[in-house]
Amino acid sequence: MQLVFLGAPGAGKGTQARWLSKEKGIPHIATGDLLRSAVQKKTGPGLAAAQYMNAGTLVPDSITLDVLKERFAEQDTEKGYVLDGFPRNVTQAEALASMLQISGWTLTRVIYFSLDEETLVKRISGRRICPQCQAVYHLSERPPRQEGRCDCGTLLIQREDDTSETARVRFQVYQQETVPLVQYYTERHLLSAVNASAGVEEVMRQVKQAVGC
Ligand code: ADP
Ligand code: AMP
Repeated sequence: MQLVFLGAPGAGKGTQARWLSKEKGIPHIATGDLLRSAVQKKTGPGLAAAQYMNAGTLVPDSITLDVLKERFAEQDTEKGYVLDGFPRNVTQAEALASMLQISGWTLTRVIYFSLDEETLVKRISGRRICPQCQAVYHLSERPPRQEGRCDCGTLLIQREDDTSETARVRFQVYQQETVPLVQYYTERHLLSAVNASAGVEEVMRQVKQAVGC
C-alpha cells in the first residue's frame, strides 16, 4: 500500500500518518522529519537544506529526492509506506511516479487534508513536539498529560519554523507549489478529500474510509 498524505502545513497529516502506519504495519515517511534529522546530524544535504527550512521555503528537489531515495532503500518499505509532506510540487510528483514505475508499483491513494487557513494557523501555533520520541501535541487540542512535558517525560519544544511569520511563508508556498497537486491527482483518479477540520477521531474515520480499511 503506497499512500500520499497531501495538505497544508499543520493540517494534521503527521498525526493521522503515525496512527495509520502503526495500524497497517508500514512506515510513516515524512520528508520534513527526514530533512530535520539531516539538519541535526549536519550531513551534506542537511547543511544545504537548513536555510530553506528556516525560511519556510521548499528545499530544492534534488536534495529532497536524495534524502527520500535513501529512505526508500531501507527494507521496511517493501510492503509500502505512508508518505507525508511529499510530493510538494509537480516535479516531485513526477519523480515519485518514475520511482514507483521502476519498482513496478503504483500509488494506492492520495488523501487530501482540506482545512481553512484560520484553523491551520491555530494548529501550527499550538503545536509542540517531543525532540526525543517525535510525539506531536497541541497546547489546547491535544495536550500532554503533564503541561510542557511529553508523556515519555521529555520537555516539549516548539518547532523553529512554527512561528507565525514562517508559517505564513509556508502557507504561501503551499498555495503556489503544492495546491496544483490537487488537480494533478484528481485527473489521475487518485484523490480522496477528507474534512481535516474535524476532531482527530473523525478525521481518522474518514481516512480509514478513503483507504478502504
Ligand atoms: P502536519 O503533519 O499536517 O503538519 P500535524 O499532524 O503535526 O500536522 O498537526 C498539527 C497540529 O494540529 C498538532 O499540534 C496536532 O496535535 C494538531 N492536530 C492534528 N490533528 C488535529 C485535529 N483533527 N484536531 C485538532 N488538532 C489536531
Ligand atoms: P514539514 O515538516 O512537512 O512541515 O516540512 C518542514 C520543512 O521541510 C518545509 O517547510 C520545507 O522547507 C522542508 N520540506 C519538507 N518536505 C519537503 C518537500 N517534499 N520538498 C521540499 N521541501 C520540503
